[in-house]
Amino acid sequence: MKQWVYSFNANEAAAAKAAAFLINSEGLLANCLDPSVSALHEAAGSSHRLEKNKFLLGSKGAALKEMTRLGLPVPAGFTITTEVCNYYWQNNHTLPSSLAAEIKAEITSLERATGKIFGDSANPLLLSVRSGAAISMPGMMDTVLNLGMNDEVVACLIKQTGNKLFVLDSYRRFLAMYGEVALGLHSCLFQEASQLEDGRVTLENLEKTIASYKQLIARHSKLGVPGDPDEQLYSAIAAVIKSWNSERAQVYRRLNNISDELGTAVNIQAMVFGNKGDDSATGVVFSRCPASGENKLFGEFLLNAQGEDVVSGTRTPLPIDQMQQALPQNFKELTTICKELELYYRDIQDIEFTIENKKLYILQTRSAKRTAASAIKVAVDMAGEGLISKDEAIMRIPLESINKLLHMSIDYSHDLPTIAQGLPASPGAATGMAVFHPRDAEEMSRHHKVILVRADTSPEDIQGMYVASGILTSRGGMTSHAAVVARGMGRPCVCGVSKLNINEREEFFQINGVTVKYGDIITIDGGTGKVFLGETPLIQPVFSAEFSALLSWADERRDLQVRANAETPLDVITALQFGAEGLGLCRTEHMFFDSAKISLVQEMIVALDSDRRKEAVDRLLPMQIKDFKELFRLMQGKPINVRLLDPPLHEFLPRREEDKEELAKSLGLPLAVMEQRLKSLHEVNPMLGHRGCRLGITCPEIYQMQVQAIFQAINELKLKEGIDTNLELMIPLVCDVNELRQLKEYINEAIKQVNGKEDVCLGTMIELPRAALMAGQIAKEVRYFSFGTNDLTQTTYGISRDDIAAFLPEYLNKKIFAVDPFSTIDEDGVGELIRIAISRGRQANPGLKFGVCGEHAGNPESIEFFHKLQLDYISCSPYRLPIARIAAARAKIECG
Ligand code: PEP
Ligand code: MG
Repeated sequence: MKQWVYSFNANEAAAAKAAAFLINSEGLLANCLDPSVSALHEAAGSSHRLEKNKFLLGSKGAALKEMTRLGLPVPAGFTITTEVCNYYWQNNHTLPSSLAAEIKAEITSLERATGKIFGDSANPLLLSVRSGAAISMPGMMDTVLNLGMNDEVVACLIKQTGNKLFVLDSYRRFLAMYGEVALGLHSCLFQEASQLEDGRVTLENLEKTIASYKQLIARHSKLGVPGDPDEQLYSAIAAVIKSWNSERAQVYRRLNNISDELGTAVNIQAMVFGNKGDDSATGVVFSRCPASGENKLFGEFLLNAQGEDVVSGTRTPLPIDQMQQALPQNFKELTTICKELELYYRDIQDIEFTIENKKLYILQTRSAKRTAASAIKVAVDMAGEGLISKDEAIMRIPLESINKLLHMSIDYSHDLPTIAQGLPASPGAATGMAVFHPRDAEEMSRHHKVILVRADTSPEDIQGMYVASGILTSRGGMTSHAAVVARGMGRPCVCGVSKLNINEREEFFQINGVTVKYGDIITIDGGTGKVFLGETPLIQPVFSAEFSALLSWADERRDLQVRANAETPLDVITALQFGAEGLGLCRTEHMFFDSAKISLVQEMIVALDSDRRKEAVDRLLPMQIKDFKELFRLMQGKPINVRLLDPPLHEFLPRREEDKEELAKSLGLPLAVMEQRLKSLHEVNPMLGHRGCRLGITCPEIYQMQVQAIFQAINELKLKEGIDTNLELMIPLVCDVNELRQLKEYINEAIKQVNGKEDVCLGTMIELPRAALMAGQIAKEVRYFSFGTNDLTQTTYGISRDDIAAFLPEYLNKKIFAVDPFSTIDEDGVGELIRIAISRGRQANPGLKFGVCGEHAGNPESIEFFHKLQLDYISCSPYRLPIARIAAARAKIECG
């Protein structure tokens, strides 16, 4: 017959003693600190059992069972499994027929263990009934304490204990909890009816409170509190099971991705009382600090109280250190047990305890929730202590929260009015005044922090983006211009807030009935995509010694080389600080972003004939040489993958009237001719238009100038400063091998002009489906492939990377897409093209190297996929490097 109930009692502890892992003396604690002893092996061997138990008994039930087995002082009890909860919900709100008999047997053995009788008026046993799911859902489900009380039991307990204050205090707590949980009365009714002043208890106000609770229950509930303890018990069990599907529990599960199928267990234990006087107490303690990770007990306790007092805020708890004076022996015991539990579970523990007349009981232990900083310090410290391996330390870091260590983050402990939700395009938080033009950003940022608000951004906006503390756009997805550039610069950015109605001319935006004008303060969180009205306290980033240690362990472990996408000196310096082993993508068009160069690039693009173009190109040459020298000098011989110009034209052409006029003037053209020229350059689909290598083929002088600049820079650096450059030269947006053949001619010609011989490590981006399919031919012309997964995703899906934001939320809501394909690589579709390209490329050219430089290279799930494909390197924005380094190591640890 199916077993619905599992007990934890002292008999099991005896078995554990025989099983050799017992940790109840200081001597054994010293042993456990030596990693060679059996403690770690025992713990490792038991982890499977713990995991299995968790799903059947809930994490609280599993821990109670385990702690009992280890001989720790746990009040005896039993757990009704999560399967009973599931049975209840699947069978018309009924409980399994054999459950009652099992519970009866367990109560009998509990009576034997405690020497008390449940429902007896001479020597009554009281119980606690607590929920406990496999994944902790703090405060979401229900608990009833002091169960088994009625007027008769109360009278008997007063006689038996001689402590009327304690008994009445327990009774009023029971009436309130039972009333709320089993009868469904609102907690505020009990708060209003309470006669306790400031939580202080006297016999008189306790008696008054009990009387008013009884009246309140009689008034509001037909059922009332049953006198029969058995009836109380079954109602409380049913109430705890029902609380699994309370609205707040359902919302919590949805927000935290917890399956509805798990169900809650119900833990029933003999009550122990922290409210028996000043030699009794209750509290919560962490084995290390969950905020900083410091290896020191951290927590709070209250003398003469029950657990709810610590969390409810009615009384202010004392720091745990003060227990040393109040209850020194118990403090010593608690310290030892905390260490023991930490050693056993090999993780920081969050422990609930109660002391009843100087006897310590442990009521719960679980892995503590912690900040990212604490997670890193604890993992590194524990590896240093030999408690976990370096690999485990690497695996334990919550990657999503690492961003918080690199960027400002929002202090969510304050109440914040969210006004909008967009895509979390570039992590970090920023507060500042809203400005709507890049030029205003430049001007205002001299004295204020600004958030640049735009429909979308273009290279013309770059200076404004650079000086802004954050960027907010209404259009564009995770690989749009704003997102890519902001990420590269480390600026927080929220993109694609499609409901944001921006009036750039009149300088305001409206969303959900809120109007934000020029100069109004807003805050953005680029890690969550949230936008807030007003200023918000921000938390400073910290980069600790432990984090550096962890990163270096990750570097030792990973196979994938990790490079950065960077081109400006500032970005390159950041990339090197964050551990870049090279540059995997130097987007040369980003080197033209300052205002002097961008107008030359515009002249170059708009030029009516090749002579005029050559003029603009010649003026760009010395600037390019200078820029490349600076870049190569910084990289000191590390690999640098320079990509020849790839400007989608719409990103570079002037849009504002005044900019058009300026360009016309500098080219000596009438405005009307300029307008005409711009019209002729207008493309319906610029991302699929005259960009990438297509520009190099139609205007060879542009690529030739770049190649000349690169090689002159290399030569000058070598000659004058003795610095070597490890150059890789890359051609973008190739779809046909003939493009490559033609461009090779142009490039070799330019190299020959500078060096007299043609020698270059030439590669190509694979960022179009046809390029992937034709990889066999293409591979023969180059030494490496770099997968441009931004464009490859765009062209495989046929979804513009700049327009996806308009419909992505609905696609995700309706579960058409599980994730944004521009953030996490689509292994089945885009990934299949990559597999094909690798296999055909390798077959045609066995020495071919492979890398990825699309934004996916900074995404942990995608990195695992790239590791499995055995690519040579990944290359991402500088601020994503730490996560990429750890993710690459994790991929190696997990997949080998
Ligand atoms: C890509 O397409 O993945 C890529 C890296 O190039 P860009 O984002 O510059 O188009
Ligand atoms: Mg591309």
